[in-house]
Amino acid sequence: MNRSPEASERVLVPRAPALVAGFREIVWLSPEGEIAALSPGEARARLDFGRGGETPMVCHARAVARRLDATGFAALDLLELFAFVRPAQFCVPTPRGLAAALGLATPRTMAEACIALATAARALLQQLQAETDPGIRALAMAAERAGWAWGPAVLAALPPAEPAALRRAAGLRAWQSLAEWQERAPPPPPGNLPVSAADARTRLAALLGAAAEARPQQADYAASVAAAFAPRDRPDQPQAVLAEAGTGVGKTLGYIAPASLWAEQNQGTVWVSTYTRNLQSQIAGELDRLYPDPVQKRRHVVVRKGRENFLCLLNYEEAAQAANARGAQSVAPLALIARWIGATAAGDLVGGDFPGWLAELIGRGRVGALADRRGECIHSACPHFRRCFVEKNVRAARHARIVVANHALVMAQAALGGLDDANVPTRYVFDEGHHLLAAADAAFSVRLSGQEGRELRRWLLGAETGRSRARGLQRRIGDLVEAEDEAGPVLIEALVAARILPADGWHQRVAEGHGLPGFEGFLALVRRQVLARAANGDAGYGIEAEARPPIDGLVEAAGRLAAGLDRLAAALRRLAACLRRQLEDPENPPEPGLRQRLDAAVRGLERRADRQLGGWSALLGDLGEPPRPETVEWLALDRVEGAESDVAVNRSWIDPGIPFAQTVVQPAHGLVVTSATLTDGEIDPEIAWHAAEAATGLRHLPERPRAARIASPFDYPAQTRILIVTDIPRDDLGQVAAAFAALMSAARGGALGLFTAVARLKAVHQRIAAALEAQGLLLLAQHVEAMATATLVDIFRAEEDSCLLGTDAVRDGVDVPGRSLRLIVFDRVPWPRPDILHRARKPVFGGPHYDDRITRLRLRQAYGRLVRRADDRGVFVMLDRALPSRLLPAFPDGVPVTRLPLVAAVEETARFLAPGPRQEPA
Ligand code: SF4
Repeated sequence: MNRSPEASERVLVPRAPALVAGFREIVWLSPEGEIAALSPGEARARLDFGRGGETPMVCHARAVARRLDATGFAALDLLELFAFVRPAQFCVPTPRGLAAALGLATPRTMAEACIALATAARALLQQLQAETDPGIRALAMAAERAGWAWGPAVLAALPPAEPAALRRAAGLRAWQSLAEWQERAPPPPPGNLPVSAADARTRLAALLGAAAEARPQQADYAASVAAAFAPRDRPDQPQAVLAEAGTGVGKTLGYIAPASLWAEQNQGTVWVSTYTRNLQSQIAGELDRLYPDPVQKRRHVVVRKGRENFLCLLNYEEAAQAANARGAQSVAPLALIARWIGATAAGDLVGGDFPGWLAELIGRGRVGALADRRGECIHSACPHFRRCFVEKNVRAARHARIVVANHALVMAQAALGGLDDANVPTRYVFDEGHHLLAAADAAFSVRLSGQEGRELRRWLLGAETGRSRARGLQRRIGDLVEAEDEAGPVLIEALVAARILPADGWHQRVAEGHGLPGFEGFLALVRRQVLARAANGDAGYGIEAEARPPIDGLVEAAGRLAAGLDRLAAALRRLAACLRRQLEDPENPPEPGLRQRLDAAVRGLERRADRQLGGWSALLGDLGEPPRPETVEWLALDRVEGAESDVAVNRSWIDPGIPFAQTVVQPAHGLVVTSATLTDGEIDPEIAWHAAEAATGLRHLPERPRAARIASPFDYPAQTRILIVTDIPRDDLGQVAAAFAALMSAARGGALGLFTAVARLKAVHQRIAAALEAQGLLLLAQHVEAMATATLVDIFRAEEDSCLLGTDAVRDGVDVPGRSLRLIVFDRVPWPRPDILHRARKPVFGGPHYDDRITRLRLRQAYGRLVRRADDRGVFVMLDRALPSRLLPAFPDGVPVTRLPLVAAVEETARFLAPGPRQEPA
């Protein structure tokens, strides 16, 4: 046993052991400084599960619990302390990440990581000694009373405060410290001055500064996309540019140059939309070049997200009141959230300054319940309306020069008619344009399911059982209804009609089956049809079946359900009409706050009546009719880890580009659709561009868009290798796992393993995690760790020799420059899933070429992750020897592609990635 050098000088740190858990090794540092390696069983035997034991310091208690196969033990989680001391700040949630964030020495072994936890605790507690705000002490006292493990140490570290100051302090009433928004006059419509190619180049040069190295590709790109900012000549034909920019071109600043110029000279707003919330943050970061002054940037740049992303202060207040009243343990997590509310820039819980790991520690469900997920906002009737994060975000976006949005929000605005914004943008840049149709598909499809029905019932009736705080219609608009004689009875009629929707426990009743009425009875028949028709009914994963021909009784049940839903929709429309009368009353016009509330209530009711219930009713009516040419319908039984989670009837557009073009593209005056992967390497460029126009919806414009392709500046043939392993049977998971381990070991980490199925990923992880850890290589895995994908990617990026296993979300969302990503291993050729929707789309997206095109784009996407900077090097390995040569144009010209046995692939990987001077084989 070793003795830690820190053992002798504990001033503030609780006298507690420290615990670090890997998959193979678990290290325990005693308060006396003794370090021991334990088995999971030995570690569990030391912990406090409420019957006595020790409370160790850990980093990310949930992840540690998963690795120890133990839940419910007491722990001093350093991440909780970090969140309390440094709210709204980020750190990678590992001992090394903590050390880096606090400027401490980097731990290199697990024993050092244990010591680092104690050192980090001391550093954080010392920081608290300088905090003079009595509000922090008041919060710590509340958390301590609720049993927060860090409470005593935090209170010991904080300076004392006067009782009167503590009484005055906001404590959990965190909203008190927030500034209120001020109403501003609406902006005038934007002008129509164009941006020339030369102006775009000049603006780009200014953004980059005189000292920047020349990047001719970036300037060419900026000049090409400037055409999208010319005035429109026809009402149905925006100025459209489809621009492919290889990795490394620097497309973000490339399009920001003309976009910012247009916005300034026309007093307008350009919406830059990307695929994920993390990419939104990345783009917002690059806008520092445009507005180096943070005050200016706050004025002119807004990261716009859907309201379900923001903390709702009313939900928070209700949660805090309930927890306080019960003296519940949840006071401590709420105290951490209160600290964050006081420090956050925008109140954004997803991808903003709320650390992803904090949601993992507190519980995603608990954090999600603090957002306005179900549209229960009561607008100006809310006591926090003028401090509301959602309201601030919506208002700021109206006056911004650049709004950084995401595709899902833009599509939802279009599909649902404006949502929170009456002002529809006229200029867009769609980055990550290859994801546009997936977002359009989600927004314009119809899904009638048990869960959706349950959600609507909750929106209408509120919480009927249990501890839920859901506010129903009566609670949200009861006071508005009182002003109208007719409205009260109509509201009651709507609430009675809503009882047709599925109630809690519908799953069980539907699975059991017979004699159910209404919605649940219909779902039972849907489930029966899926189980009868699906080829793989016993599979543990979700299954589906064609909607036609229906089994006996389904069409009749659909008709009865449609009639019930129509009654509900009619009542909601009448209720909306009553409220609208108040809005349009010339003699007694409502004051602005009330007007906004009435307006939101009317829109919410009409949206549910027309879009949701109307869409469901039409779908149900069509089940007995022949299929329509533009849509496809199918039935589904969803399962999560073998358990049934939903029963649904789905309708999708076969080409979601049609509604996207009609509602977003054609009303716009100008748009850029851009990506690194719009074309798939197809030999004939004309065919490739036609396919790109189809895949982005732009083929539905009267005139074709301008096309631009700017090649990557990277030297891919020198910087990368592509290896296809020829001797691994893809269905032999033992051999596949061994191949992953050998290749990751040859690269000494920095490896991304990509899988086409979660079950294969888990099987490989289970076989190789301990072996890699024995070599000092951390193996992270999506679907295995108690961490979200974004957290895993953060760790993977920060820990240069770690490895990560993942599926599609990892393939499409990883941006890891440098040595942290130097090897990609694919387990199988990523063919599209041959489901009912795919089969329906095939004829309209290229027939026999559709599968190849999708697969080439996926390979291209994955390969593109390897080289993010001019000095990156990487190896791409396909373990599936069935990769056909016709897919190889997915990769850049000139990159060597070698088919070889595993042993040779391992050698080549080690050789190519070895640091130091390069040695090419003879
Ligand atoms: S205005 Fe709406 S979203 Fe904002 S805090 Fe109040 S209820 Fe929540």
